[in-house]
Amino acid sequence: MHIFIIVLLIFLGASWGSFLNVIAYRTSKKESFLKGRSKCVHCHNVLYWYDMIPIFSWIFLRGKCRFCAKPISTRYLLVEIFTGLLFVFGGLLIVDLVEIALYIAVVSFFVVLFIYDAIAFIVPDRIVVPAIIIIFALNLFVAQDIASILLGGLVGGLWFLIQFILSKGRWVGGGDIRIGILMGFLVGYPLIWLSLGIAYIAGSIVAIILIILGRKTFKSRLPFACLLLPAAFATWLWGEAIWQWYMGLIL
Ligand SMILES: [Zn+2]
Repeated sequence: MHIFIIVLLIFLGASWGSFLNVIAYRTSKKESFLKGRSKCVHCHNVLYWYDMIPIFSWIFLRGKCRFCAKPISTRYLLVEIFTGLLFVFGGLLIVDLVEIALYIAVVSFFVVLFIYDAIAFIVPDRIVVPAIIIIFALNLFVAQDIASILLGGLVGGLWFLIQFILSKGRWVGGGDIRIGILMGFLVGYPLIWLSLGIAYIAGSIVAIILIILGRKTFKSRLPFACLLLPAAFATWLWGEAIWQWYMGLIL
């Protein structure tokens, strides 16, 4: 890929990431994300346009508000860089137009849901429901296997619904059921099992590390969508290869 295209994709992705950050933050505060200028969350001064250039502004301001010098969360910088890299990654991977639409939808919804769960421990309906519908519809064109997609969504949803009923909502929340459906619609069947497996293994490793570091106890909650979504994303891209490797191991 030409260096110019890479730089362009990083900038496009970072700008998009900056927008996704605003959506996640404002929906979590029950504000409209279309109306209103961007403000400092501490002093509420309206930001200049040149303080909103993705990646560069944060670095130039050294992560502090121009007006009140209070810190601007590194979350902004990280999400912008990460979304920029995801765009470059998508550019290397994808040629087909419908695939590009699906890829952008997946990246956008997953990043917003990830931020949201990480900061508020909630999977908001007004983001996850459109995500389920749009990703299902686009994937019908990309994966072209209705049975696999439907069965994937069914297994993903039931997996959490059964736990929800058994535990009377103590182990998992209603949001996890929706995330399960979303994962299944993306990766299909049988790969939904693989994505759940990856999420649980990753979750155990993260939990053990946090407990060892003394950051969490056995009773602490983890933002579960933050594990499920990356697991589904990895499975979507590399699931077939991982599945075959795994089958080769046990057979
Ligand atoms: Zn400020």
